[in-house]
Amino acid sequence: MIVGAISRISGPVVLSEGMRGSRMYDVVKVGEQQLNGEIIRLDGDQAVIQVYEDTTGLQVGEKVSNTGLPLSVELGPGLLSSIYDGIQRPLPLLAEKSGSFISRGVTLPGLSHEKKWEFKPRVKKGEHVVGGDAIGVVTEYHLEHRIMIPPFISGTIRDIYDGEFTIDEPVCTLDNGTRITMLQSWPVRKGRPYRSKMDPDTLLVTGQRVFDTLFPVTKGGTAMIPGGFGTGKTVAEQTLAKWSDTQIVVYIGCGERGNEMTDVLTEFPELLDPKTKRPLIQRTILIANTSNMPVAAREASIYTGITLAEYYRDMGYDVALMADSTSRWGEALREVSGRLEEMPGEEGYPAYLATRLAAFYERAGRVVCLGSDERKGSVTVVGAVSPPGGDFSEPITQNTLRIAGTFWALDTSLAYRRHFPSVNWIKSYSLYLDQIKDWFATSGFSDWKDLRAQAMYLLQKEVELQEIVQLVGPDALPESEKAILEITRMIREDFLQQSAYHDVDSFCSLEKQYWMLRVILSFYDRVNQAMGKGVPLTKILKLPVKTDIGRMKELTDIGKIKELTIQFDQAISALEAER
Ligand code: ADP
Ligand code: MG
Repeated sequence: MIVGAISRISGPVVLSEGMRGSRMYDVVKVGEQQLNGEIIRLDGDQAVIQVYEDTTGLQVGEKVSNTGLPLSVELGPGLLSSIYDGIQRPLPLLAEKSGSFISRGVTLPGLSHEKKWEFKPRVKKGEHVVGGDAIGVVTEYHLEHRIMIPPFISGTIRDIYDGEFTIDEPVCTLDNGTRITMLQSWPVRKGRPYRSKMDPDTLLVTGQRVFDTLFPVTKGGTAMIPGGFGTGKTVAEQTLAKWSDTQIVVYIGCGERGNEMTDVLTEFPELLDPKTKRPLIQRTILIANTSNMPVAAREASIYTGITLAEYYRDMGYDVALMADSTSRWGEALREVSGRLEEMPGEEGYPAYLATRLAAFYERAGRVVCLGSDERKGSVTVVGAVSPPGGDFSEPITQNTLRIAGTFWALDTSLAYRRHFPSVNWIKSYSLYLDQIKDWFATSGFSDWKDLRAQAMYLLQKEVELQEIVQLVGPDALPESEKAILEITRMIREDFLQQSAYHDVDSFCSLEKQYWMLRVILSFYDRVNQAMGKGVPLTKILKLPVKTDIGRMKELTDIGKIKELTIQFDQAISALEAER
């Protein structure tokens, strides 16, 4: 084993001599307290180490020993409902062991090695298996946890067992003597392999109108949510965790405010999965960085998180990874880089910020998994960004913009007006529109793209018209343009606004979204028609059916929404007949 000695300490960064033979990203134990650290630079026999724990009290001359292993996570049954720190130490156990979340030199396995799981084989003696093949299943809460042959291993099944096992006991042996357990270990900085990446052509249904209808993200796609303080990033991430059509959620929280993560830690386990009414945490893995945890652990947390997500993807599941907020991760990177005295780039962030961000988001995707059965799985990444002062020109926002497929720009002035989700419909975009068109068509919404385009056209037109109104007042506008302003107000208030806390409206099915928008846009067509026949706009706007349209959100019966088209048609026809 390589053992060196500390020659310098600078916050979370430690320099050690005598480390020749070490490799980049090897995990080391630092000092008498055996603090966990990772080699991030090598120069001759000198190693630069980032330490995941508080280095207070550490002294020059103390020993550093190299474990020879990269920073890895444990993968196997028992991950769901876990709450981890950035290096997969279970926080509740950590707290038990040390009385707080922040203890030093404690090594705790990510998974229980004592618990027994009932393993049900799915392959037989004599069958040939390759990496990724599911040889059996374990029930993890309500999920079929598929026990897979690890990547790059193959062989013929010599023995396979049925019964209760810990994750260290073999459940199967191959003819070449390889013993397969339910535990896999994987280095977090390396993406798990898959057979091939698929095109992003399937919608991630979130049940949120402004996302699904206007700025969709695909399964395996990437989305960013930048927004100033209080614009609704955390609410959006949690709403997506609750409602998006994925089986698994990995939630990486980096506390923005002092006790915010503590809130998440106490509140999250109480949330119910609205679809199944079971605790949401049973299909969630939570990674928490409180603001008093060392920065290096925060830096590692996004890799830990995405590796866990990839593991469930490999089983053939759709996984959503929420990172709230990646700005806190970027700041950790900046702090470590500053300690390394690297040449700073923009605003003090290291020059490699862009490549690191890209490497993280690139691990998203919908893939054909390893294994012989053509399983498909996905990891969708949704990263919140909290630019200081809500100024989107800062480096994390700008660099993420170049990578993310969907951009949900949260707007301080909308949030201030209590228009939620405060997604700015002019600044936001989705790069998936063309790829996802066919998916909408085969799901029964063949004119989704046209409806969306019309809504976007009107909303853009509204901006122009409002400028005119500001200059010369509303009366200067012709009736047809006043009608546009009425319709866009309906699009904004009756369609885009959606409360995360409303019993019915917190989730809106795609069919309901489609019909709501269709009702508003066909109302617009009908209004234009009537105005052409000389019916004054003011008269149409007084029709009670308009109020009914405003209440569509609260309806659960889509038939009633469809009926509105008949109702306004009749009411407007009556006005036409009066003339
Ligand atoms: P951020 O994480 O951006 O600082 P939060 O997500 O904590 O902001 O949101 C701040 C507040 O905005 C919430 O406490 C809530 O009152 C309101 N809010 C945000 N999104 C919604 C929503 N979709 N529906 C209703 N209220 C919302
Ligand atoms: Mg927040």
